[in-house]
Order: sequence, then C-alpha cells, then structure tokens
Amino acid sequence: MAEKTLVILGSTGSIGRQTLEIAASHRDRLRVVGLAAGRNAAGLQAQAEEWGVAQVALADEAAATQLGQSSDLRVHSGADGLCSLVRELRVDLVVAAISGGAGLASILAALETGSNVALANKEPLVAAGNLVTQAAARFGAQLLPIDSEISAVWQCLRGENRREVEKVLLTASGGPFASWDAAKLAHVTPEQALAHPTWRMGPKVTVDSATLMNKGFEIFEIKWLFGLEFREIEVMIHHQSVIHSGVQFRDGSVLAQMGRPDMRVAIQFALSYPERWENDVPRMDLPTLEQLTFGRPDATRFPCLRLAREAGEAGGSYPAVLSAADEVAVEAFLQGRLRFTDIPRLLERTLEAHEHFPLTSLAEVQRAEQWGREQGGHLVSTMG
Ligand code: NDP
Repeated sequence: MAEKTLVILGSTGSIGRQTLEIAASHRDRLRVVGLAAGRNAAGLQAQAEEWGVAQVALADEAAATQLGQSSDLRVHSGADGLCSLVRELRVDLVVAAISGGAGLASILAALETGSNVALANKEPLVAAGNLVTQAAARFGAQLLPIDSEISAVWQCLRGENRREVEKVLLTASGGPFASWDAAKLAHVTPEQALAHPTWRMGPKVTVDSATLMNKGFEIFEIKWLFGLEFREIEVMIHHQSVIHSGVQFRDGSVLAQMGRPDMRVAIQFALSYPERWENDVPRMDLPTLEQLTFGRPDATRFPCLRLAREAGEAGGSYPAVLSAADEVAVEAFLQGRLRFTDIPRLLERTLEAHEHFPLTSLAEVQRAEQWGREQGGHLVSTMG
C-alpha cells in the first residue's frame, strides 16, 4: 500500500505524541508533513525538526509570530492557521487531536479538502455532529474514530449490517470516584481528578472521565459516526477497561472488542485502516485475568451522563452549549474556583437558561458555544 501523508492537529498533546510514536514505527507507511498545536512553540518546533516537517500551525498568534521569526518553519497562525495548514497540504489523513470545541473548524476544513479525518477530538461531534457528518458525506471523506470505545464499536460493526444492530454496549471505567459517596465527591481535588486509574490523558478529558461527561460525549460520537439513536446506546460500568465496548445484534449475539487499555492500538487502527499493522504494544494475557465486572452507572452521583443524553435528545444548540459550558466548568474546577459536584449543577443551570435554536452553520455553532461559555463563566462567578 502506498505511503499515507499525515497532518497531526494537537501533536504536542497526549494523542498527538502517541500518534507520532506510531508513525515512528511505520516510517515506510506514514509520512508526517504538517503539525499543529495551541501555544507550545518549543515542543512543536522540536517535533518539526525531528520529522523534517516544513509547515506547522500554532493557534496562539504571539507564539506563532515568534516561532516564524526564530526558525525556518512556515508557521500558520491563529485559529484559522489550522484550517489553512490542512487546506494547503491536502494530505491523505488529518489526525484531529486538539482538545475542546476549538477543533471543529479545522475538522470541517480537512473534510472539505477531501482529506480523511482520524477523530480523537470529540467535542466537535457533540456540538455539531450534523455538520461534521454532512461535510464528510458531501466531500467523500471518511471519519475514522480514534477514541478507544468508539474504535471498539467500529471494529465490531465491520462487515455487519447496521439495520441488524439492537444496541451498542458502551463501557465506562467509572473513573477514579466510582465508589465514592456524594459527600466525599464534594471535596474531590483537581489532583485526585487528574489521577485516572487506567488511562493517561490530557486534563480536560481526564476530568470529563471522572464526572462521566466523557461517556456522555461518547454517546454523541456513536450516534453520529454510526447513525444510531441515543436510545440504542447503553452505558455500562466496566472497571477493568479490558472490553472497550461492544454491539448487540437483533439475534441476541454480542460482539465486543478487547485489549489492554492502551490508546496506541486504537490510534494505529485509524491510521492503518482498512489494514491492520503489526506493533509491539504489550499483549493482553487472558488466562491471567481474574475477573471482568460490569454494572450500571449511578445517575444520582454522576448526573453528567443524564445531562448529555437530555441535551442530545433535545438537539439544536443544546449540545454545543453543554460542551462549551463544560469546558468553562472543567477549567474553573482545575483552577480551584468550582467544586467537583458543582460541574453538573452548573451545566444543568446553563441548559435550563438556554433558549435553543437550530444549528445549520459553523457560525451558529460558534454562537451557541459563545453563549454557553458566557453563561458558564457567569455561573462560575456566582457558584464558586
Ligand atoms: P491534551 O490536552 O493532551 O492535548 C491537546 C492538544 O491540543 C495539544 O497539542 C494542544 O496544544 C492542542 N490544543 C489545545 N487547544 C488548542 C487550540 N485552541 N488550537 C490548537 N491546538 C490546541 O489532550 P488529549 O490528547 O488528551 O486529547 C485530545 C482530544 O482527544 C480531546 O478531545 C479528547 O477528548 C480526545 N481523546 C483523548 C484520549 C486520550 O487518551 N488522551 C482518548 C480519547 C479521546 P498545546 O500543547 O500547545 O497546548
């Protein structure tokens, strides 16, 4: 198979660095030609030098200007810089691995260019799954999931007829506080929330995993990527994170995808698709696994899952508002300005105050996100 060209958006982050690790093991199959980050100019420059990349993008304009002056790199600057990078390079595959809703414009730009998109960045699918999937269909580009649970569903659905799906079984590790009572949850510190038991990830998605909002967001990923309804997606707690998710078919048969909790397997599958490539990721030793446990999430202690479903069912601008307000709430929590248990309270109050409208353009999504951020910020100052 011919070499694939890649642009990695968010290359300095957790998913971005692991993507480069995989690319390093498959230099004959993958060629990295563009990299992008938020403000980490030094990290981006080091990666560009290592990979012989001539074009990069930095969202932070001051950092971009400085990097352009101090290196030979062609630096695309600002939020639009990520879009111009992907438009100009027109690669086979854009890895979307920046965190937060800010990734939406560059994902749309990549799809409109005809590039396939390997999608880790989930917030854009929450806020604007309709626009993302419409753009992919219109420009003949593929969306390839990176998120391990979504990759699991994707792998279980290979060669299957979607109409024969009864439901998706979406697993959740339950996060570090699965067994904590409500009183204890009120005193969770940022350090505790950032110490996820099984996955090492960036701060936003780690806190979202602890509140279970991450699982709520994954329901959107499944809905949009596989054309399912919210009610066809059941979340179950599975602490060991060995079964990454599964699909139940209408004859009662269940297919599940298993493996050690290591993102590199899911990332590599998105890069290698439709092939499977070898790797040296440690293998699961099934006979040594003593037990696999399953349960239902506790909606009282972890209301975020319910809020995500409600916002999704209501549709329109609600999901974009929820996602944007969540970014504000998580940041405020990490800064010590909001209690852990106030995150869902803030989100619920934000959704209650919102007068929703349909989302048919990027500008409308951005208007909804702006409203969510402002309302979230206002509530942080009154609740914090
Ligand atoms: P990190 O916080 O580790 O990395 C985020 C990356 O995005 C960094 O390169 C950062 O640059 C860049 N970035 C942040 N904001 C902007 C912006 N406004 N414009 C351009 N670049 C920006 O996050 P993760 O790698 O953990 O997660 C990335 C995405 O993947 C998230 O949406 C997350 O939900 C999803 N995901 C992550 C998983 C994981 O295991 N980590 C698993 C499944 C999904 P800089 O370094 O300059 O700040």
